[in-house]
Amino acid sequence: MDGTYKVPFARRGSVLDEHDIQALTEVVRSGEALSSGACRDRFEEKFRDYVGARYALSVTSGTVALEIAIRLLDLQPGDEVIATPQTYQATVQPLLAHQIKVRFCDIDPQSLNIDPTSLRSLITPRTRGVLLVHYGGYPAEMAEIMGIARRRGIPVIEDCAHALGARYHGRRPGALGDIGCFSFHTSKNITTLGEGGMITVNRETWARRIDRIRSNEVDGTYAPAGPLADRAPRVLPWMKYSEGVYQDSCRSVAGAGTNATMSEAAAAVGVVQLDKLPVLTARRRWIASRLDEVLEDFPGVRFHRTQPGLEHAQHLYTFFLPGGPDVRYNLVRALDERGVEVQLRYFPQHLLPEWRLRGHSIGECPVAERLWFSSHMNLPCHPGLTDDQVDYLIDALREALSTVAFPRTGALACPSST
Ligand SMILES: *Cc1c(COP(=O)(O)O)cnc(C)c1O
Repeated sequence: MDGTYKVPFARRGSVLDEHDIQALTEVVRSGEALSSGACRDRFEEKFRDYVGARYALSVTSGTVALEIAIRLLDLQPGDEVIATPQTYQATVQPLLAHQIKVRFCDIDPQSLNIDPTSLRSLITPRTRGVLLVHYGGYPAEMAEIMGIARRRGIPVIEDCAHALGARYHGRRPGALGDIGCFSFHTSKNITTLGEGGMITVNRETWARRIDRIRSNEVDGTYAPAGPLADRAPRVLPWMKYSEGVYQDSCRSVAGAGTNATMSEAAAAVGVVQLDKLPVLTARRRWIASRLDEVLEDFPGVRFHRTQPGLEHAQHLYTFFLPGGPDVRYNLVRALDERGVEVQLRYFPQHLLPEWRLRGHSIGECPVAERLWFSSHMNLPCHPGLTDDQVDYLIDALREALSTVAFPRTGALACPSST
C-alpha cells in the first residue's frame, strides 16, 4: 500500500498531550537557561528511582547511550564482544568503530533474547563485554546471563530501548546488568520530544566518566603549575594564568568527548512522560490482549508471552506463524492491502552487508535465522492508535488470516521450541 496507512506500525509510539504541553510551556517561559538545568536533574532522579539504579544520565538518543556504554569497555584491537543478532541496527552499530571481533549469540526461540547456553559457548579469554536487548519488551534471562558474566568479570550492557515498563522478578531492566541504555525516540514507550536517551549504571566511576564524555570530556582546568603544564609546552609563556581569571576558558579535555546534553525542554517532557508510563504500558498490553484473542482461534500460532515473574513492556507485538515463509508473506500482504502497516523487526544483524563484509554468514545463529525467515510476525501495538483504529486492526487481522492458506495442523515452524 502507498501513502498513509489506516493503522500505522509505530509512527507515534508515545502520546504527547496537554500535560506535556503545559510542562513545555512552563520551561520555555521560565527564563532559565535551556540546558543543564533543574529539569534534567529532576528527570534523571525520577528515572534512576524508577529503574532502581544508582545513577541515571540523560543523553540525546539511545544510539548515543549505546556508543558511550561501549566506550566504557575500553576495547582494544583483538578484543571480543558477544552481541544479539535479533535487534535494531543501533544496538551493534557502535561496535563497527572498534577493531574487535563480534560474536553473534543465538537467541531463545520463545523470548527472542540471547540464549544463555549459546552465550556460555561463545566466551573466550578475549571476551570484554556482552551486548543484549530485551526484545520487544520481553526481559532477557538475566539471572543466568549475569551468573555467566559475573564469574568471568565480563560487563553486560542491556539495550533497554524496548524495555521501559517491563519487569523481571520484581526488578527493572536497566538495573539488572552493568550498564542500561534507553531510547526516548518518538516510537518508543515514552518520548522526550522525539529524540532522547538515558544511561543507567551503579558504578560511580562509570557515572563520572559518562558525565564527562557527554559534556565534551572536560577533565580539569589548565593551570601552568599543574600536571598538564609539565607535559605540554607553554604556548604563551608571558601570559599569567595564575590569577584564576582565565580558568574558566582554559579547560582541558581528556579525549574525544561529545556533547550529548539533553535539552531542558526534552527533560521537562520526560518527567511528565515517566508519570504516564503505567497508563501507556497498560494501553499497549490491552491492545496486545485483543490481538491475542484473535490469534487464539488459529492453532499453531505461537505467542511471545512471558514466563511467570516477568512482565512484558509490549513495545512490540510479536507472534510466530506456522506454515513457512509463504504464509508469512501472504499475511503481510493481506494486511498491507487492508491498510495495516507491518514492519518485521528485525532482520538478523549478522546477515546485513556491514557484518557479512566482516566475515559473518548464514548458519551462525540458526534459531534467529529460521524464525525470522519463516515465521516471525509483528503487528502495530502502540498508544498512538485510537479505539477505532484498534477495532479496525482486529477485524483486518481476522480477515487477513482467513485469506491465507493457514495450516491447521498445529505444527510449529521452529523445531527448537518443541
Ligand atoms: C530505537 C532503538 C535504539 C536506538 O535508539 P535511538 O534513540 O533511536 O537512537 C537502539 N536499540 C534498539 C533495540 C532500538 O529499538
